[in-house]
Amino acid sequence: MKIHPNDEALEEFLLSLGDQHRRLVRHLTWCNYCRSRLVYLPRPLPLSPETGKGAGSGYDQTVSASRRAVSATN
Ligand SMILES: [Zn+2]
Repeated sequence: MKIHPNDEALEEFLLSLGDQHRRLVRHLTWCNYCRSRLVYLPRPLPLSPETGKGAGSGYDQTVSASRRAVSATN
């Protein structure tokens, strides 16, 4: 997204997060180090030979849920 989201979109995004993720976002507002790491995350998951799906479980689902929450505001 090259265009800055407006205040309402940001607010909606924050409200859609749980406490833990909200604290994480707050951290990102001042931590250049973590922001720079976001550029290359999430890394592609290695494919599991058994299922052909990503090996990640809980973490991956959390990220997917966050993405849905973000895209819902667009
Ligand atoms: Zn940090």
